[in-house]
Amino acid sequence: MYEDRTFSVVQTVCICDRCGLEMRQVALDGEWEERLTVAFRGGYHSEFGDGNLVELDLCQHCVRDLLGPFMRITQDDPFEPRHKPAYEARRAYQDYQLREQMRRPRSLVDLFRGPERDRENPVD
Ligand SMILES: [Zn+2]
Repeated sequence: MYEDRTFSVVQTVCICDRCGLEMRQVALDGEWEERLTVAFRGGYHSEFGDGNLVELDLCQHCVRDLLGPFMRITQDDPFEPRHKPAYEARRAYQDYQLREQMRRPRSLVDLFRGPERDRENPVD
């Protein structure tokens, strides 16, 4: 038996702060995966104010328009990469990873030293 039913669905949407494009997490258009989210807290003498929270969400089109002239783009195969980033992100976590990191009891020394992988592959 078939029936027509109405369902309400909650979807996570990221809205580009520049152009207003809605990037839906469940869409298959690739916009969600290509978005750029910036979130950090300004440090001492920051251009954004001491301790202020700075956040930005951009769609890939606005990233290209605004930052494209300054970006270094290297052709590569994502499945067999031949190039590594000049500087791998350290202590950069997705939301779910950050929560896990913050839950772990750690000493102050460990917090400043970063996770184990940072100690194995120091950048500096
Ligand atoms: Zn945009």
